[in-house]
Amino acid sequence: MSQGATPGDHLGPAKIIRVVHQALGLDGVLVIDNVARGPSIGGLRVAPDVTVEECARLARAMTFKNAAADLAHGGGKSVLRGDPRMPPERKEALLRAFAHALRHETDYIFGPDMGTDETCMGWISDEIGRAVALPAALGGIPLDELGATGFGLRHAAEVAGAAIGLELEGARTVVQGFGAVGIHAARFLAERGAVLVGASDSKATLTDQAGLDLAQLVATKRAGKSLADVPDARPGPVDAVIDVACDIWIPAARPDVITGDNVDRLQTRLVLQGANIPCTDDAERRLAERGVTVIPDFIANAGGVICAAMEYAGATRTAAFEAIGEKIRGNVEAVLARSRGRGVLPREAAVELAANRVREAMRHRRFGIF
Ligand code: NAD
Repeated sequence: MSQGATPGDHLGPAKIIRVVHQALGLDGVLVIDNVARGPSIGGLRVAPDVTVEECARLARAMTFKNAAADLAHGGGKSVLRGDPRMPPERKEALLRAFAHALRHETDYIFGPDMGTDETCMGWISDEIGRAVALPAALGGIPLDELGATGFGLRHAAEVAGAAIGLELEGARTVVQGFGAVGIHAARFLAERGAVLVGASDSKATLTDQAGLDLAQLVATKRAGKSLADVPDARPGPVDAVIDVACDIWIPAARPDVITGDNVDRLQTRLVLQGANIPCTDDAERRLAERGVTVIPDFIANAGGVICAAMEYAGATRTAAFEAIGEKIRGNVEAVLARSRGRGVLPREAAVELAANRVREAMRHRRFGIF
């Protein structure tokens, strides 16, 4: 696996472990970035082109994400070189061997990422007893089925809405990417009176300023179809979702969907980032200049990781959802207050908040980062 330039600073990484087993064809890396706040949680990514450098960057992102979510967990990440669509029996053998080799690294708790899912976490849990987002049969909380991240987005909307004088009752909402995150965000916001006026998936955009039929859209997606198949719909192009006038715009699909080239088309007051890095830095800055409030990804979409940490702590679903609401509300408030107080972008405020929490925890540790 290529080494690249591994980033390092006063926050980490604390450990980089390479695991190689030639006979098995196993080549993996674990990066534990910083565990001042507690054992790290971070996903295991399976991809053909992963590098140590990528793993280290992702581990740092988890340090900030977990600290921003105010979890008693540090950041780590692991990567395994291979085709994510390899036969399940081969994947199971590789994952079990990788986990076994790391069985004593108690500062790292495995989670799912690209190329791994709850079944994979079940194998790892069986092997070493240290994984989150497990199958329900093993005590896992099915976070995508219950909508942990969408639930957190609703709380972010309530707090951010109050800060900018936006009532959720009647607020026009648009969701880009009507999947696990997007559907539940729309559903939880509708419970607060918001009206879904636009939704898209990888095939089509549907829009209706009088309000789309949410139940019909959800039923179509749950039947494994696309929004283009909604009966009597007049589907528009995928990209048209950016032009739908609304109060709350929720990206919940892919990275970098809003850039300097299309940001001026957005007509909204609040952007709640359900997806990871959906806007480029340039686009976020231009939105701020236009007075649009942006709640950055690792603050707004932390519902999933909070749910996973609560599962690991043995909490019930009810307690996990209470924690999501409480933490996300507190964090959105803190980020907006810091952003206003210091005249910085919400993302800059969020990074400062997270880094300060990590440094504060490091003061209580003899060796700081671990
Ligand atoms: P998902 O696969 O369930 O849904 C993604 C949806 O986006 C699908 O409906 C797909 O058709 C649609 N889509 C794909 N390309 C599109 C495009 N170009 N335009 C419009 N729609 C498009 O995935 P998900 O779990 O809902 O995750 C969505 C995003 O949120 C990802 O970026 C993920 O990393 C991020 N995220 C998810 C969670 C979680 O709890 N699932 C937590 C944090 C962040």
